[in-house]
Amino acid sequence: MYLTNVEIQELIELRRYFHQYPEVAFSEHKTGEFIADKLKGMGYKVTEHIGGTGVLAELKGGKKGNWVLLRTDIDALPMKEETDLPFSSKNDGIMHACGHDAHSAILLFIAKKLLDYKDKIKGGVKLLFQPAEETGHGALQCLKHKGLLDDPKVYATLALHVWQDLPVGTIAITSGPAMAGVLQYKIKVKGHGGHGAIPEQTIDPIYAAAQLISSCQSIVSRNVPPMDTGVVTFGSIHAGSAFNIIPDEVTIEGTARYYKKEIGDLIYRRLDEIIRGIDIMFGTQTEITYDQFLSPLVNDPKVCEIVRKSALEIYPDIDIRNDLMTMGGEDMSFFLSLVPGCFFFIGAGNKEKGAIHPHHNKRFIIDEDSIPIGFSVLFASTLNLLI
Ligand SMILES: [Zn+2]
Ligand SMILES: [Zn+2]
Repeated sequence: MYLTNVEIQELIELRRYFHQYPEVAFSEHKTGEFIADKLKGMGYKVTEHIGGTGVLAELKGGKKGNWVLLRTDIDALPMKEETDLPFSSKNDGIMHACGHDAHSAILLFIAKKLLDYKDKIKGGVKLLFQPAEETGHGALQCLKHKGLLDDPKVYATLALHVWQDLPVGTIAITSGPAMAGVLQYKIKVKGHGGHGAIPEQTIDPIYAAAQLISSCQSIVSRNVPPMDTGVVTFGSIHAGSAFNIIPDEVTIEGTARYYKKEIGDLIYRRLDEIIRGIDIMFGTQTEITYDQFLSPLVNDPKVCEIVRKSALEIYPDIDIRNDLMTMGGEDMSFFLSLVPGCFFFIGAGNKEKGAIHPHHNKRFIIDEDSIPIGFSVLFASTLNLLI
């Protein structure tokens, strides 16, 4: 533990500040300004507007060596908070319901504490406060910033996520694949509308869309090998204006998840083939567009081992799980596909404190005891990589 009781309180207050002023993806203007001001005050070299609303801070150590990138997400979600916490969201209709407020506070506090170790650090540290994780677009926007990973060259990267499904006092460090690859798609089934009682004069896109959805359920059940993993979900469908009108068009949106690239490619190909087949059968004209591609998140075994040892140094009795895998996606995967690193989970669930609601739920809360644990494991791992 690197924190005094007073510092733990400061860290938790900082998280509560972020919690009260959430901003959604690519609108984190005030959050970015707040973070940049604090970092400038600490003497960091600060670059603002990274990837839109992100912030990059750099600290060159006193000795020569390799650089490490620590990354946090800073965005919240477009949903109304119903937690009744005394520090609930003051921005109506926006809520930190995933824990990015805790991540931001942890990284900002790490910035402060790293200054004590500046002379001992070999190489240096880049602290990236990344926008728009929730839409899956923020990391790629940040990667457009020249030199982010190669000037100075970054040789390892670390990030964490508080995790509701794990009880507080538990952490999960999964070596290898830990989170799924993501496809996000929008399908427009275009037909020819008309009277509901005279269907022969129409091309009914609702009927075609229903067949399309049913057929796509065969991708996982009939095409993905049973020992592999895949999800194909349709989460929204919109069409029509009245009971007796066949509409012109149906819009369907959905997401697919996978772990192996070849399964992602298979789902992509089968969606397209099924759509072509539906058009041949029903005379519709169907278009599919993809809004998001995330590669699976794959952790580096060596960096994971450093995080594991660092966690045990501070908490010798901590329960470390090494098998947590989720079909959720995370755009930290883009950094991890370019630089070896570790994205680990900090248990934040606690029935006694009401921390029982899942991420992205309007009553989502975390056990704040997870915050100093997250700080300490991330900080110790960073020092072990740099000193
Ligand atoms: Zn989330
Ligand atoms: Zn999240």
